[in-house]
Amino acid sequence: MKTWIATCPECGSADVIYETGMMLGQKYRCLKCGYIGSFVLEKEIEVGEDGFSGEHHA
Ligand SMILES: [Zn+2]
Repeated sequence: MKTWIATCPECGSADVIYETGMMLGQKYRCLKCGYIGSFVLEKEIEVGEDGFSGEHHA
């Protein structure tokens, strides 16, 4: 099956967490480079029965 993950538009890392702010609204934060914003790149990935598998980009 396939699913979508959010990746950082700055460094391409998948270590992006979703944050909500009462005043600022929804946004994302990258744990790698510190990017904060409402825009992230969505990436389609293959996931197996045991979790993530298949393609692995550096
Ligand atoms: Zn980043």
